[in-house]
Amino acid sequence: AENGKKSIRNNNSKNNSFTPIMEVTKDEFNIPSVIIDPKTRIQYAKGKFLGKGGFARCYELVDLASGQAFAGKVVPKSMLVKQHQREKMTQEVTIHQSLSHKHIVQFIAYFEDENNVYIILELCRRRSLMELHRRRKTVTEPETRYFVKQIVEACIYLHDKRIIHRDLKLGNLFLNDQMEVKIGDFGLATRIESESDRKRTLCGTPNYIAPEVINKKGHSYQVDVWSLGCILYTLLLGKPPFETSSLKDTYSKIRKNDYIIPENKIQREAVALIQRCLRPEPFDRPTMSQIYIDQFFAGFTPQTLPTSVCTVAPRYS
Ligand code: ADP
Repeated sequence: AENGKKSIRNNNSKNNSFTPIMEVTKDEFNIPSVIIDPKTRIQYAKGKFLGKGGFARCYELVDLASGQAFAGKVVPKSMLVKQHQREKMTQEVTIHQSLSHKHIVQFIAYFEDENNVYIILELCRRRSLMELHRRRKTVTEPETRYFVKQIVEACIYLHDKRIIHRDLKLGNLFLNDQMEVKIGDFGLATRIESESDRKRTLCGTPNYIAPEVINKKGHSYQVDVWSLGCILYTLLLGKPPFETSSLKDTYSKIRKNDYIIPENKIQREAVALIQRCLRPEPFDRPTMSQIYIDQFFAGFTPQTLPTSVCTVAPRYS
């Protein structure tokens, strides 16, 4: 290692003359151009920057041996100095690691070097439902059924494993090249210890926060159903049900269950499902399994969607 640079050497060579195949450099964030999982020795070349979140910067990573592309979340250890920050990270990894479902971003690996923690994930190249919603505003009912059905399938799986996501929102619903939905970001997720267990605390500010979380009355699986109601509303009507210009006013509207579904904009099955998901009393809401067989899903649902729906509405005629 000269000048802080390391070489990746080709150790498959027969004559034992190790030839460097790539120079490893570091960018301004101290992220190496080749990231190595010390356990599996898999080498990933750092590619395109995908986006950043609260803690993480996310890059496309390519496994140098197989050519397979992944998403790599890189969290600087300097962000994880406080005990509870580490605990949250561990919680996220522990929960996400235990999951395997067609509609959940697949967790691939977790490792660290002296500067960063790395989380390797299934790559979702088509961004998320948030970008789709921003471009399109409203989404047609067949598309909404297509997307929401997949989200509900993943939630049935999660709730069955006693896991609550607690921050279902458009930005956490990722899309791959096949336009399949993949739930990601388990940063606020929690595990329910027993059927009577109700969570009292939530560290963070979920986007579509349920009234029982605001009121600190204890919450459970039903918070994901509430969020799903907000997602349905937003996709079909183009804006969130409790939107105001301040968090305080939004919370006040949520507490009062103060939202309006405009008349004659959407089918009555859609109205009925949104209303059931947004009931103020958590136990009055349907479960994810009940939602799955709701009348709303009896309407035409496409089997696949083209990537063009990211920008323009499909035509069903
Ligand atoms: P944080 O937990 O720090 O908020 P996120 O999980 O939101 O980080 O990730 C930050 C950004 O990285 C996202 O907004 C998105 O643009 C991108 N990203 C995250 N996961 C993936 C993925 N699996 N595939 C593609 N891009 C992703």
